Amino acid sequence: MNQTLEQLQARIEDGDRLSAGEALSLYRTAPTWWLGRMADLVRRRKHPEGLVTYIIDRNVNYTNVCVARCNFCAFYRPVGSAEGYVLGFEEIFRKIDETIALGGVQLLLQGGHNPDLPLAWYEDLFRAVKERYPSFKLHALSPPEVVHISRMSKLPVPEVIARLIGAGLDSIPGGGAEILVDRVRKLLNCYGKASADEWLDVMRHAHRAGLRTTATMMYGTVETDEERLEHMLRLRDLQDETGGFTAFITWSYQPEHTERGGREATGLEYLRTLAIARLVLDNFDNLQASWVTQGGKVGQLSLAFGANDMGSVMIEENVVRAAGAAYCMDEVEIVRNVEDAGFVPKRRNMHYEILGDPIFRERDVPRQLELATARAAGDSSVPAELLNYEARSATGKRQRNRPQSPVA
Ligand code: SF4
Repeated sequence: MNQTLEQLQARIEDGDRLSAGEALSLYRTAPTWWLGRMADLVRRRKHPEGLVTYIIDRNVNYTNVCVARCNFCAFYRPVGSAEGYVLGFEEIFRKIDETIALGGVQLLLQGGHNPDLPLAWYEDLFRAVKERYPSFKLHALSPPEVVHISRMSKLPVPEVIARLIGAGLDSIPGGGAEILVDRVRKLLNCYGKASADEWLDVMRHAHRAGLRTTATMMYGTVETDEERLEHMLRLRDLQDETGGFTAFITWSYQPEHTERGGREATGLEYLRTLAIARLVLDNFDNLQASWVTQGGKVGQLSLAFGANDMGSVMIEENVVRAAGAAYCMDEVEIVRNVEDAGFVPKRRNMHYEILGDPIFRERDVPRQLELATARAAGDSSVPAELLNYEARSATGKRQRNRPQSPVA
């Protein structure tokens, strides 16, 4: 390192921007306690009031059928698999009812790239949700899903986004970013679903259309340290351009049951990665703690390494669980961890506006000691409304041409 830690500390204290070389050097060689101290300093500067936020929402995966076949994913099922599913509108409404009962305000709605769900299905679903639950928010469809819908519908991305907004889309989650470097994406077999430029372009168009979105990074597969930093710098550049990102969330690759296999990065690597992200992403206000992949204890420690948000209460989770991690914290447990770390917990919405104190202190809500799943095991029912949409795959066509039993 050409500059000493003292010199770099002075620059960080002055609010100077780190260069790629400085960030890489710190990420590789700075002591972990030092990275934590600097990240905490920046977090406190951005959030001097000592609050830690979280949102009550539900992570619903509307389908697990996917043609992308990323080799790090344990969640998807190929077209025609007996374990493939598409949730019915009524099933999704029931999940929303349960979410509202727990004080929830939105769905994080993502799914596989299912060739048998046309744009009209998404539009009809969003409209139906908004008709029944006008103030409930849809944080839905990561950039690769938007690219998939754009390709299937042969409509440009801005038009797809405009149609989805017209139907009720409120915000786009930053999933599917993995590492925004095409060398890595090719090795992970996720370049085809969206290149780095395509991912960024969806977010650019979403921001231009007035949506706020999040950004993510999944590390710990084949990428180098330089490529992790390149990912962060590309996000920083787009944030300079649009200012549309609300938050950054990073987590480590979860290897169980995946084609790629391998080992998971350690907790220390997570904390170092989070801390360097806080230093590099100087134009992001919010960093989430990924307790869903790291567990509650590392999630709590994240609050000393740059995170100011505990993410979602996470009533349901299917993707990370498929890869071996099934941590569960309900609101009571999140609040306990936040307060024990010396912060004041506050509920927020998708724009990180404060909604209030913990809801369980205002009224009785059921404890949530286990994460729900998309569907009960063995439930292979096909929603009746799917018959209204044209399928593209041979399996989908067969399914839709035979008499269906209505969804229970
Ligand atoms: S990560 Fe998403 S796009 Fe990739 S295989 Fe899994 S469900 Fe499909």
